Amino acid sequence: MLGEGILKGMVETARNFAGSYVSKDRLTTVEYPEERIAPKENARQFPFLVFDGNDPMAGLRCVACQICEKECPPKCIYIEKSKDKKPDFVGKMQFYPATFDIDVSVCMSCQICVEVCPFDAIKMDQEYELSNDDRFGGLLLNKTRLAKSNEYYGKMHPQEAGAIDESRLKTKEAAEAKVKADAEAKVKAAAEAKAKEAQPPTAPPNKGA
Ligand code: SF4
Ligand code: SF4
Repeated sequence: MLGEGILKGMVETARNFAGSYVSKDRLTTVEYPEERIAPKENARQFPFLVFDGNDPMAGLRCVACQICEKECPPKCIYIEKSKDKKPDFVGKMQFYPATFDIDVSVCMSCQICVEVCPFDAIKMDQEYELSNDDRFGGLLLNKTRLAKSNEYYGKMHPQEAGAIDESRLKTKEAAEAKVKADAEAKVKAAAEAKAKEAQPPTAPPNKGA
């Protein structure tokens, strides 16, 4: 029937309007900014950089591989790789971003940067109150503004963050076990070499016999 959709919509609006006086579930709006609706778990706004531990800069997971910068469709990520390296979570020396900027006035929240990052270093934030009267500088987020703790990420996405933590812990344990095994092998090899040196030289064969 012509206009059926409009009628259905009007009925739903009327039900919500009348129902909102008796049931909070029917109240579909809130008095923002005094009140806020908690975002759904899968809600996403703009990316942020995850750091581990208490020091945002030392704990950044990003190794400045620049994959996200290359893959970002509107090219709103800008990275400068460091000249030196710092240890990552398994103690391997890695580059880090000397500069990491995202222009969120250009970002289209596609999440491609998150999908391509091999280090779980960049995730989507639910923060949406970024309005600013500085059209350019205010929306150009540098690494200090982008850095957010793994605990923050864990509160937003408990299951996903928990699975990543578990996988990183396993990787760390495997790396530590390898370091330990290598050290033990070195000690064993040194002991064997020393024992070989300590052995008396074997007598030359008796040619007259
Ligand atoms: S969400 Fe998309 S547009 Fe925004 S920085 Fe990531 S890749 Fe670029
Ligand atoms: S956020 Fe990930 S993909 Fe982007 S530079 Fe850092 S490690 Fe590489």
